[in-house]
Parts: sequence; structure tokens; C-alpha cells
Amino acid sequence: MVAHEMHYQAYIIGGYVRDRFLLRDGKDFDIVVVGDGILYAQNLAKALNQQKNITVFKTYGTAQIKYDDIEIEVVGARKESYSPESRNPLVEAGTLAEDQNRRDFTINTLALSLNKMDFGLLLDPFDGVTDLLNKQIRTPLNPDITFSDDPLRMMRAIRFATQLQFQMVPETFSGIVRNADRIKIITKERIADELNKIILSPKPSIGFKLLDEAGLLPLIFPEFCNLKGVEVIEGKGHKDNFYHTLEVLDNISEYTNDLWLRWAAILHDIAKPATKRFETNDGWTFHGHEFKGAKMVKRIFTNMKLPLNEKMRYVEKLVLLHLRPIALTKENITDSAIRRLIFDAGEVLDDLMTLVRADITSKNENKKRRYLENYLLVDEKIKEVEAKDHIRNWQPPISGEEIMKAFNLLPSKEVGIIKTVIREAILDGVIPSTYDAAYQLMIEEGQKLGLSINATN
Ligand code: ATP
Ligand code: MG
Repeated sequence: MVAHEMHYQAYIIGGYVRDRFLLRDGKDFDIVVVGDGILYAQNLAKALNQQKNITVFKTYGTAQIKYDDIEIEVVGARKESYSPESRNPLVEAGTLAEDQNRRDFTINTLALSLNKMDFGLLLDPFDGVTDLLNKQIRTPLNPDITFSDDPLRMMRAIRFATQLQFQMVPETFSGIVRNADRIKIITKERIADELNKIILSPKPSIGFKLLDEAGLLPLIFPEFCNLKGVEVIEGKGHKDNFYHTLEVLDNISEYTNDLWLRWAAILHDIAKPATKRFETNDGWTFHGHEFKGAKMVKRIFTNMKLPLNEKMRYVEKLVLLHLRPIALTKENITDSAIRRLIFDAGEVLDDLMTLVRADITSKNENKKRRYLENYLLVDEKIKEVEAKDHIRNWQPPISGEEIMKAFNLLPSKEVGIIKTVIREAILDGVIPSTYDAAYQLMIEEGQKLGLSINATN
């Protein structure tokens, strides 16, 4: 209606139209206007009674309207020309057809008319509907132009192929192979955004395999590429940790939509190449890969411009602990080993158990069932010990302040030593986690350290 009154042509375009055809719900509308997009957006906001919820980006000629939980993005139709050095194009006003030309894939060029004259008419110059039906990703123009103009589109192509489980047509894929090197002009943040969308897809391995085959993976995530390959010595090979990791990632994706738990799956064996040894008696070993791997997380997150916050520390912790539950599946496991795992894992314990289950990639169904049953036993033991000893949100029964008061100490090394001795004794099951037992041990330990009890105590 607004379009009609203003004598503008306006169209819903791109993701929303695509997702309507695919019966996926999309909440974001992109509207393209032949004319002044901002002026149109202001009128639209008025018509929707949302004048307060419009944000105008003058430099980009775009505007955004928030309407309940819907986001409407309005842009004037544009024509773009690129210079080889940059992904920032020269932008001029254009026709709808010119605007459709500059879009990334045929399935993203579909436009629905909002004009009174032909309301609801589909404008589909590249036959995107056929590609939708055939589940295909294809660039509207020569792929060398589309990808070299804006190399982020290579990541987007692989992201859509993974999210939608579509195939790239061969000429589109070979366009990526030819232009892979140009990914270097894209910021790490935007690459990470697309990679995270791949990781959050139902079957992320599709995307990683495509990134690898296209030659993009070594450029954006070399550590992951290093997992590839099998070495054979004295007739013994190890498993290919690239494909193993992808299986673990697909497995865990059936149980969690948490991006960072999926990242933990990606990185759990990341230090295997760096710790690999062949030992005559034991064959291939990867001793310490969990420690070294945990240490690599920060470097990888830094390089990829992923957040260096509690999410990163969560991933580090899971990588570090990923071999611990398997050690508890052996016979004669002591309560103290269980207590230590509960204590060390803290709030990541449940996620750790999800990770170790996903880590079972044996093709032998009997073995697989046996491993899973073993973890059920570990779960049970954890429950038992936790019910008894409450290690999960464990607080020391005696605080540092009380120790200082008891021995008339200022904050010092001795306080730390006594706290550690008490904690270790409780985790080892030498004393129960009670005030009296801890107090007794504190006195004994203080005497060993030559401290005297505060007489006024
Ligand atoms: P989703 O929102 O699910 O990620 P989308 O297709 O809506 O998918 P957006 O990034 O929201 O993707 O972009 C909206 C539309 O803008 C796309 O459908 C496409 O037509 C166009 N577009 C976005 N990014 C690019 C790009 N880098 N090159 C060309 N066209 C693009
Ligand atoms: Mg969108």
C-alpha cells in the first residue's frame, strides 16, 4: 500500500522468500525499493505505527524497522561495481534487475512484488525456483565474478549448502576453488560468523568437507587441516583424526545446539598431530594431547577472532578433561576418582559426558554398545557419590578467614597450604567434608607448619 501511494516499486527479496518456499520460518524481511529506500522505510514505519522503532543508516542508504520480534530491513535497489582490492563496491541506484544481479545465489534473488498493480507476483529472472526445487546452489552471474567481487560469498555458498543440505552446481563449486585465495581480503570476524553458522547446522561435517575440498580450510583454520591423514609404520596406522573429529561433531550435533559444546567437539583432538609418536611396543600414541590441546584453544580463538571470554574457557576445560571419564570406565574405580572428576569438571560435567559419548566412533556395534554401557555406569557412580558427598557445588567447610583467625595469620602462603591439604583430604576421602573434621586437620597441619593456635580462639 505504502509503495503504491508513494509510486514506488517495492519487493520482498532474498532469504525470506527463499525460506517461505522451503517452509522454513524466517522472521527477517528484506525489502528492496526502486527509489529512496530510507524515505519508503519512514513511510512504512508510519503506516505500521512504529515510528519509534526505525533506525536509519544514511551512509548505507538502508533502514531497519523493528516490529514486535520481526526485523524489516529496507534498502534502495542498487547496482554495484567492484575493484579487485576490496570488497567495498562502488554503489549506485539501480533497477530491480540490477539489484538481483548483485545477489549471491539464484535462490537468494527471488523477489515478491508489494505493489498494488501486481501484488504477490514472483520475479525470478534466474529461475531460482527451479534451483530451490532441485536443491541447488548456483551463482546468478559467472561465478568468477560473483566470488571475486565479494569472496565472503564462498563461505556463504558452503554455509547454505550445509544449512539447507543443498548441492552446489559444479561450475559454482569450481568457482570457489579458483577464487579460494581471495578469502584473505575478508575480515576474520565475518568468516567466523559464517563458520559458526556451518557449525550450528544439522550436519556440520558437510560444510567442513566442502571447505576442505574447496581449498578454503587451510586458509581459515589450518590447525584443523593438520588432523588429516594416516601415517603407517611397521604396518600399523592410526585413525584419520580429521574424519574422526567430523564424526564426533555430527554425533554431538544430534544432542546439542550449543555452539561452544560443538566447538569443544571440533577441538578435542586438535593436538593429536603435535603429540603423535610411534612407540615400538604401544604403536601410535598421543600422550598429553588433552593438555596441549587445551593450551591451543586460546591461540586458535585469537587467530579466528572468536570470543576470548568464559566461552573459550569452557571449551578449554572440556578439551582438557575429555579423557577423564574413559579412565573411570575401568574396573575398581574408587569414589575418590569420581569425586575428583566431579570437582574438576564442576558445571561442565554433563556436557563432558555428552562429549565423551559423541567421541565413540567405533564402527563395531558391539564395542559401541559396551562403551555406552560403561558410561551409564560412570553416570550412576557420579550420582551416588554426589548424593553422598555434594562435591558439585563444593565449598570448603573452613574458610581462609577462619584459618587466619585460628593461627593469628595475615594472608600468606601457609593459609593456602592448609586450604589445599583440607581440600585434597576431602577429595581423597581421608576425611569427610564436615566442619569438625576439617578443623581437626587444620590444627594438625598448622602444627606441622610450626604455627601456634591463637590463644583467644
Ligand atoms: P539468513 O538470514 O538465513 O542467514 P539470508 O539469505 O537472509 O539468510 P542475509 O545475510 O540475511 O542472508 O542477506 C539477505 C539477502 O541479501 C540474501 O538473501 C541475498 O540476496 C543478499 N545478500 C546477503 N549477503 C550477500 C552477499 N555477500 N553478496 C550478495 N548478496 C548478499
Ligand atoms: Mg536474512
